[in-house]
Amino acid sequence: FVRLDNIVKSYGAYVALKGVSLEIAKGQSVALIGPSGSGKSTVLRCINTLEVIDSGAIFVGDLRMGMQATPRGLRQATAVEAARQRESVGMVFQSFNLFPHMTALENVASGPRLVKNVSKPQAQSQAMELLDRVKLGDKANAYPRQLSGGQQQRVAIARALAMQPSVMLFDEPTSALDPETVQEVLNVIREVRDSHMTMLIATHEMEFARHASDMTIFMEAGQIVESGPSAEVLGSPKTERCRRFLAGLT
Ligand code: ATP
Ligand code: MG
Repeated sequence: FVRLDNIVKSYGAYVALKGVSLEIAKGQSVALIGPSGSGKSTVLRCINTLEVIDSGAIFVGDLRMGMQATPRGLRQATAVEAARQRESVGMVFQSFNLFPHMTALENVASGPRLVKNVSKPQAQSQAMELLDRVKLGDKANAYPRQLSGGQQQRVAIARALAMQPSVMLFDEPTSALDPETVQEVLNVIREVRDSHMTMLIATHEMEFARHASDMTIFMEAGQIVESGPSAEVLGSPKTERCRRFLAGLT
């Protein structure tokens, strides 16, 4: 359902992704692991068209991300076209990125309201359902600063889901959280997965990767070094490189 064909992405002279190919089936949950700087966030940002790739192709369902079909063939998507494509891709960042001047409910309702022209009562009742789903129904009228990190992150997940994306990307969704609140966020992500959402999660939580992802991909220096069923990659890695990473040696 999500497919990357030989993605190359550089920042100036620095090549951050050196030909990354991967495939995620519909409803599959995939963990992306690897040392800092290996390119995990860059992969997610490319899928989401937040970055323009140098070469290769990215497909989400039938959409060729970042490109627009015309009668004369494909061309680079404009900013507006890319923004439209991005609507089908939900993204949750490490830093929750909520609108500080909006309540939890308004944060969740604002996307459908502004982008999808959903009526205010309908957007709000959908937002309320989503807040219940992330167990924050009682915090609907709280502002982000009145919420804990874990609660803010759960609002951010509800906000991404409100756009009814066909895939969800998580970039280290728990690494900015206090240890006590990590689990509540992981539980919500696990529930999203159980609803058969197609997901890609960059994470440093190996236990979570093991339990909540069907496949794990290990990256280093802009390349995929190893990938396969999570139990195999995390339990008995084939490459020395991945073994050392999991042993905490790097
Ligand atoms: P981490 O685990 O620390 O989040 P990561 O695997 O997500 O790391 P990326 O953020 O994808 O790594 O970065 C990959 C490489 O690209 C790094 O060497 C980083 O310094 C570089 N990089 C990322 N963004 C930019 C940018 N906007 N400009 C220049 N270099 C960048
Ligand atoms: Mg990152």
